[in-house]
Amino acid sequence: MEVVEEDIAPVESLLILKEFQNVFLEELPNGLPPLQDIQHHIGLQPGASLPNKPHYRMSPTEHEELRRQVEELVSKRFIRESMSPCAVPALLVPKKDRSWRMCVDSRAINKITVSVDPEQHLIHLREVISVLRHEKLYATLKKCVFMRSEVLFLSYIVSADGLRVDLSKVEAIKQWPRPTNITEVRSFHSLASFYRLFIHHFSSIMAPLTDCMKGGGFEWIEGVGIGAALNQNSRSIALFSKKLKGAKVRYSTYDVEFYTVMQAVKHWRHYLFHKEFILYTDHEALKHLHSQDKVSARHASWVAYLEHFTFVVKHKSGVTNHVTDALSRRHSVLRRMKVEIPGFSSFTKLLKVDPYFCVALARVRAEERTEYVLQDGFLFRDNQLCIPECSLRTHIIEQLHDEGHVGRDKTLHLVQTPYFWPTIRKEVEKYMYRCKVCEVSKGIATNAGLYMPLPIPSQPWVDISMDFVLGLPCTQRGNDSIYVVIDKFSKMTHFIPCKKTTDVVRIAQLYFREVYRLHGLPISIVSDRDTRFLNHFWQSLWKMDRFSTGDYHKLAARKIGPVEVIEKINSNVYPLKLPSHIRTANVFNEKHLIPYAGDSSDDDDSMANSLHPGENDAT
Ligand SMILES: [Zn+2]
Repeated sequence: MEVVEEDIAPVESLLILKEFQNVFLEELPNGLPPLQDIQHHIGLQPGASLPNKPHYRMSPTEHEELRRQVEELVSKRFIRESMSPCAVPALLVPKKDRSWRMCVDSRAINKITVSVDPEQHLIHLREVISVLRHEKLYATLKKCVFMRSEVLFLSYIVSADGLRVDLSKVEAIKQWPRPTNITEVRSFHSLASFYRLFIHHFSSIMAPLTDCMKGGGFEWIEGVGIGAALNQNSRSIALFSKKLKGAKVRYSTYDVEFYTVMQAVKHWRHYLFHKEFILYTDHEALKHLHSQDKVSARHASWVAYLEHFTFVVKHKSGVTNHVTDALSRRHSVLRRMKVEIPGFSSFTKLLKVDPYFCVALARVRAEERTEYVLQDGFLFRDNQLCIPECSLRTHIIEQLHDEGHVGRDKTLHLVQTPYFWPTIRKEVEKYMYRCKVCEVSKGIATNAGLYMPLPIPSQPWVDISMDFVLGLPCTQRGNDSIYVVIDKFSKMTHFIPCKKTTDVVRIAQLYFREVYRLHGLPISIVSDRDTRFLNHFWQSLWKMDRFSTGDYHKLAARKIGPVEVIEKINSNVYPLKLPSHIRTANVFNEKHLIPYAGDSSDDDDSMANSLHPGENDAT
């Protein structure tokens, strides 16, 4: 037991104990103590602000149970209504028999409960024991300690500074023999788990053990977990760690960090709710948590949850914990590689035979001064993971470049931050030179930014883009989607009602009727639909456009004038004599005429007309 003796020997307290020895009986007398009004008084630190805690959020069932228990206690006169300015929260904990135990969270009030000095402590002691004697309550001497500034309580050392671990117990954990079977692993796990509150990233560290207890292999894998610390007045008061499972293992670093923040806040919601707090993260991007406007569904739900709390996000300065940062950064690189690259562990063998890295490796082994470090058999140059000469190099460049086809400098930066090999620059350049996507968008990749901008149109309705707003509430005519056609030059937009199930042929017809008749055939169409859709769309449009007048956009008699019918093949097919600049089939077939669709009396409640001020389209 690690209890520190006070300056004043417990001798002084012994006098009191002797005086009140009938309070400390070996065996309790029969019967309950008489019930009477107990004058309970708690001395508080002078000037301490009284805690007035909000109660915990509870489900209606829990709330009802709490109310029932309080009423019962009031009716038994164990408790009475309080006018105290100090409020402490109560919560319900399920008992084994499925009933509930009410716990009063007095931590806030206990923290400021002290005796100022040893003299006063003796007075307090005398008061407490007098009350016990007066009320015929008893205490066990064996379980009491006096005049201590810290005590061992439930295997924790409680002192004015907070909770600490019992070092004798830590020693037991340290000295624990290496487990040889599952049962031994289990008992070690439960012993170590006892102090999980004090251990950063406990779940991650223990992940291999928990895995093997589940019946998995005894392979020592890298911990995949998250951790956080709750600090008050720059002292850690609680630690939180959690193992990542399933799909979360493959989260990006950003997502893991974001998920950690969310989980930690959720874990400590009782402390953080209605409180302002500072959230330290070592992920730069999370600083903009509050101002994120482009978020995935997953991020959106996390942001929505975090909005219940009042906090500012600050970036954890890398200076203070540079060592742990470097260590954890190296760890996370290895962890990610092991998940992403099958057989990644075997790359350590390639390092040994790599013409460049075998030298570095030898120097590290010889403990020479070098910028290289060895971690888990992998070589790092500072925080850069050294990649031996193999196909992994190209794979890495491919992964990092193809995400956004960024320029050379940016790609090099992306590759160089976590990885190192001597010919890195040359290989990045080589890869980019061969990148088909970059070639198509602009000859050779530039450093312009994420995506190559499309050429700027020079006239209206030549380059258009199409989009679909799907899954809207159904109209009376059964339309549930909007087909949006935008002219990239003027930004003029047509909104055409359609159905989610409308096929490409029908979409082309809608285009023909709503857009083509006004603006003619475009030269380019951009759509987020796949190329098959666009190909089909173009084909359908061209079919309808077979009477297109080439240089003219609109099929209008006044533009090409009356044309001569050369002959009548049958009742509805007539070859025509067309002017030479009309590049279209010269056969007119009545079947190709489409129904007149100029007014909105058909099944589509067109909005196009009303949205084009200035476009006088009196059809
Ligand atoms: Zn590219």
